Amino acid sequence: MKINEQQLKLVDRQIKRLVAADNFYGAKLKKEGIEGVETVEDFLKLPFSHKQDLRDAYPLGLMAVPEEEIVRIHSSSGTTGTPVIIPYTAKDVDDWAEMFKRCYEFAGITEKDRIQITPGYGLWTAGIGFQNGAEKLKAMAVPMGPGNTDKQLQFMMDMKTTVLCATSSYALLLAEEIEKRGIKDKVYLKKGVIGSERWGEKMRKRISTELGIELYDIYGLTEIYGPGIGINCKYDQGMHIWDDYVYLEIIDPATGENVPDGEFGEIVLTTLVKEGAPLIRYRTHDISRIIPGECPCGSKFPRIDVIQGRSDDMVKFKGVNFFPKQIEEILALYPEVSSEYQIRISHLERRDTLRLYVETTGDVDFMQLSKKLEAAVKSKIGFTPIVKVVEVGVLPRSEKKTKRVIDERYE
Ligand code: ZN
Repeated sequence: MKINEQQLKLVDRQIKRLVAADNFYGAKLKKEGIEGVETVEDFLKLPFSHKQDLRDAYPLGLMAVPEEEIVRIHSSSGTTGTPVIIPYTAKDVDDWAEMFKRCYEFAGITEKDRIQITPGYGLWTAGIGFQNGAEKLKAMAVPMGPGNTDKQLQFMMDMKTTVLCATSSYALLLAEEIEKRGIKDKVYLKKGVIGSERWGEKMRKRISTELGIELYDIYGLTEIYGPGIGINCKYDQGMHIWDDYVYLEIIDPATGENVPDGEFGEIVLTTLVKEGAPLIRYRTHDISRIIPGECPCGSKFPRIDVIQGRSDDMVKFKGVNFFPKQIEEILALYPEVSSEYQIRISHLERRDTLRLYVETTGDVDFMQLSKKLEAAVKSKIGFTPIVKVVEVGVLPRSEKKTKRVIDERYE
């Protein structure tokens, strides 16, 4: 998927505006001698921007318009360090609401729906994004904010809420409470819009079956508007990304090169029309892939897969990029193996080998199991590991996060 003429023009305009504004980011581009882009090649030569740049610009260094045009700020706080402040103009706020409205529409939500919003309101972009989109759609927003489960359930019943917006963990908690209290027949939910985080297919199924609703994953991050820059449609074959507002690339995090469609890599986003704080080639560290081909819904908006993790987790083996989560997903298909596993990559006898250690009980045929798993990894990820089957309890367990991947190639 290449950047098209129209998108190139918009990027060119963004760069010229940034350079003219001489804000933090504009000064950086100017220093590198960048004044605009004309061709695809020009675009691919543009430097990436990083979260650290945004931190360095604290508090208002990203502002690319005169201050009187800024109507709001949002902030994403990391667990460590300086927060990032993103200034928005009135048009940015409106564009974001338009995108969010489109998300609701792709999920089949209409002005007749009643949308209960449980993410938090405030400095971060969650609650207010869901709210503005709902109002733009002319649906009825029920702006609950987080917590207070008793009240959430009371309003859900009394207001006859049809759409629940929540994180996956809170949606699951509500599902379990509804079950426990035996109030399922008093709940009118039809759909759930869930903020994208890493969540397994198992959890998704549980929420959707227990509540009896369709689930939609919404994507976005504060640095680029907030949630609402993409969502899956009813065919549930990836999240459509609104590439009239945001240009999407998938890169190899190690080389920075674009990967072919269908291959996993890091999501990089460029805002096309943002005024308050435009960003060019922003590295999200989220891992996904472009789903090739056309969606059955007929929409031309490109699609990305479920977020697989962070780029820091990526492993490269024999030219194939993969993530521990992909191995986990394969192992989950085999009830005879435990949830513990270990990947060990070494350089032996002048070639790279990948050994995958898995655990099972004594009554399973080790040889047969390892053959099955080797074939499964080959067909799903693209390389053949050496699968070593061991007895349950042999692999190391620790209180903290277990180290799954040991790469001895460079030691
Ligand atoms: Zn679709």
